[in-house]
Amino acid sequence: MMNMSVDNLMLKKIIATVVICVIAFSPDILSLQTVNAQAPAAYPLTDKQKDTVNQLIDDAMVGRQAYEILESLTTQIGPRLAGSEAEARARDWGVEKLKSLGFKNVRIEPFELPYWERVVEEASIVTPFSQKLEITALGNSVATPSKGIEAEIVRFETLSDLIEAPLDGFEDKIIFVDEVMTRTQDGSGYGWAVAKRSGAANEAGRRNALAAIIRSVGTDRDRRSPHTGNMRYEDGVKRVPIGALSNPDADQLTRALRYARELKTAPVKLRLRIEVTTKEKTSSGNVIGEIPGKTDEVIVVGGHLDSWDLGTGAIDDGAGVAITTAAAHLVGQLRGKPQRTIRVVMWGSEEVGLLGASAYAKAHQDELDKHILAFESDFGAGKIWQLQTRFGAKALGKAATMARMLRRIGVGPGANNARGGPDVQALRSAGVPVLTAQQNGWDYFDLHHTPEDTLDKVDPADLAQNVATYAALIYMASEMDGDFRE
Ligand SMILES: [Zn+2]
Repeated sequence: MMNMSVDNLMLKKIIATVVICVIAFSPDILSLQTVNAQAPAAYPLTDKQKDTVNQLIDDAMVGRQAYEILESLTTQIGPRLAGSEAEARARDWGVEKLKSLGFKNVRIEPFELPYWERVVEEASIVTPFSQKLEITALGNSVATPSKGIEAEIVRFETLSDLIEAPLDGFEDKIIFVDEVMTRTQDGSGYGWAVAKRSGAANEAGRRNALAAIIRSVGTDRDRRSPHTGNMRYEDGVKRVPIGALSNPDADQLTRALRYARELKTAPVKLRLRIEVTTKEKTSSGNVIGEIPGKTDEVIVVGGHLDSWDLGTGAIDDGAGVAITTAAAHLVGQLRGKPQRTIRVVMWGSEEVGLLGASAYAKAHQDELDKHILAFESDFGAGKIWQLQTRFGAKALGKAATMARMLRRIGVGPGANNARGGPDVQALRSAGVPVLTAQQNGWDYFDLHHTPEDTLDKVDPADLAQNVATYAALIYMASEMDGDFRE
């Protein structure tokens, strides 16, 4: 290739140009091929069914029900930490709400879990530039000694850098993982950024360090609101306390380290104090309500009822609870029973390890073959822009029709590799088809798990578009002949 003659090179350029021109000037041929390769025959809805879908969308787009549900939950209950007394009050609220909206078979399916709660979380730079920092303990973190610890900071740019570091030399240090999260519309930056929540503590423990701190797993850069979230200790590794700094505070600490290095001052020392309360056992539960159908087949929708304690859990995940409850209610208002039972699940204790999801999958293992479809709303309240499915090959025509009917409210077709939401993961693993109504999550991780997760961040019009999408999907899934598995 390096010794190519000029003539040969010219010839290649000409061929390349011709190819580009053919591609550029044959859009019809190209798009036809793409369509043929991907699109199965669309599922034929009757005219009456199409009218019903359109009516549901029209009603939902001007409705306020989801916003009212969300306002009530975030105001009357507020934060709903997994396993807390507040989460128990939220379950009672859920039962009341579902009953008042006419849902049937309303019940709580209880389960047990260990309890963790923050009490004190404080950090400050003590030398050489004293400064109080905004920090939050990560869920499940152990406490520091009651007086706190004071130690030199060692910074790692990424979790990978820490993993590759030697195992000794950190015994009297606090390890700081400064990895930055990437902002994306679909939230995919979270997948790898979140690894440091457990990873930093476990790697620090493996090195016998005193504690670990991380830059918050979040995309905001200008709010001093640290992001909490759960972490897990590995078995057999020393358990060290761990907290997350707000992004501006992580910037400040990083600058302090740079100044100390350049000015050859005393090393940067941090004082950290974390106090927590734990209980071996507490109770939680899933709140369930149904619109009974003509058959024993079930469609599961919902959001998770628990939230982190710092905000009021408006976007994570009061919005999901409100969207799915309001949407199922709209479908329930139609004349006559739906073909399939629509089951709304307000999942409990999602944030501390998808515990409601596991409890549900276990309690309902004998009827999972009757679960036709499951999906969850747990990515805030941003507008839905894409429908992703995980259907069997023969059911892809149903996905095409669903997306076609949602086109007028800005939802396009997506790939057939949907995850369905965290609380339906266990159902998906058991072979239940799922879908994801993908929301615009560009701003979601600015607020996620912070004190900023409050009602004012929710746009009522976007929330209504979510309800419209869910109502249309629930109705179509209930009425379409044949299942989504094959
Ligand atoms: Zn969530």
